[in-house]
Amino acid sequence: MTTKVGKTFIAAIFIAGIGAGAFFTSNPDLNPVTAAIPNAEAKSADEISPVKAQMSDSVYYPGTEDLDPDEMRIIALGTGMPWPRGSQAGPGFLVELGNGDKFIFDMGEGTVDNLVTLQIPWEYLDKVFIGHLHGDHFGDLGALFIGGGLGGRTGPVRVWGPNGPTPELGTAYALEHLAKAFTWDKASRQGYVDVRGFEFETHEFDYKKVNAVIYEENGVVVRSIPAIHALEGPVSFILEWNDLKFVFSSDTAPNTWFDEYARDADLVIHESFIPAIDVVNGLKADPESALFAGTQAHTAPQAFGKIMSRLKPKLAVAYHFFYDNSTVVNILDSIRQSYTGPLSLAKDYMVWNVKKDGIRQRMVVADQDNWTPEKPVPGIAPLQSDRDAFAASIGIKTSDLDFSQDTLNHRLDVDDVVEPIYIEFEKIFGRKFNYPDPRTKPEDK
Ligand SMILES: [Zn+2]
Ligand SMILES: [Zn+2]
Repeated sequence: MTTKVGKTFIAAIFIAGIGAGAFFTSNPDLNPVTAAIPNAEAKSADEISPVKAQMSDSVYYPGTEDLDPDEMRIIALGTGMPWPRGSQAGPGFLVELGNGDKFIFDMGEGTVDNLVTLQIPWEYLDKVFIGHLHGDHFGDLGALFIGGGLGGRTGPVRVWGPNGPTPELGTAYALEHLAKAFTWDKASRQGYVDVRGFEFETHEFDYKKVNAVIYEENGVVVRSIPAIHALEGPVSFILEWNDLKFVFSSDTAPNTWFDEYARDADLVIHESFIPAIDVVNGLKADPESALFAGTQAHTAPQAFGKIMSRLKPKLAVAYHFFYDNSTVVNILDSIRQSYTGPLSLAKDYMVWNVKKDGIRQRMVVADQDNWTPEKPVPGIAPLQSDRDAFAASIGIKTSDLDFSQDTLNHRLDVDDVVEPIYIEFEKIFGRKFNYPDPRTKPEDK
């Protein structure tokens, strides 16, 4: 590990304490990153000026840093549980590479809200890997589909996910029906917006295959290994690029595939469920259900520690618990019973910059009031023929997409206050905008 790593982790511990989520053993022999407190980089009195900018190195401002060609940046979009909450989205992690590629691993509810905060153009956010089909791991695909489609994505959302023991339990089945659920939504936009992004492109693969390549483009290889969780079908993912290795468990109980194929990784994100007693106390489950959820369907913190003590990644990241002062101490103690290496307890917006010589951990400074990101590819004008083509594709008439005359007759007459908006636009843009009669069907116009 480099001085840079040590400095950042030390800063995270001292500045933000437990809230930064970085924890290390107190035994310096066991913890290489605490060995290098960077006294040599201490600022001079002149530099610590009352009028000069003082950038914190424990935070990341989205949109302000280039990625180095050999660098990987991972951002926690969501780290929570199946029970939605404001401070933690459902599970999801963004992986950005110095070659320009970006990948999303799982997409729980709320992850797209956090993604928008990063202000990355939708065009670049079209590759999603789903580890299993629990709603808290793919529930925001619809938000990416619609928000990205409206926001300027010019191609489909590409989704890689496992098949299941039967076709009905696979990713292709889920996405076919999710796309169908958006039929009214898509129909409503034909002829009004650029609709090229309103598609899914599904890549379903065999969940049973072990360490099989499921994606290989542009020097990036993604492999899958089976996971053990809830039903047959879940998988974990391994991404390798530029001699860097990232592993994401999605949901799984401890298993031998992970133990074998997640070795030699730079960063391993593995689930660590909240302690079973917190499932009883906080989620009001009966003890039997809590024990099953907390230790059998998922990975208990103690078992997470055991896994990492065997894998010895450069950094182990635990997720899938409610991150509260009342939970993290118990989780940390439980993990530390068996694992003393570099560890992060993940919370939303945690950022890891991964290079061959070290890992830097910070937190995103989030502007949640921003608008949709800029478009790198210009849109195309919608056409009336889009409506014809869409209607034909689902076996209805184009006129079925029109309002009925009865509905139009119920439009309130607000022409006296709305028509002036058109006149104002004429002044602003220097050309004519025809005010339509809102109570007239298209064929009568
Ligand atoms: Zn699950
Ligand atoms: Zn889960």
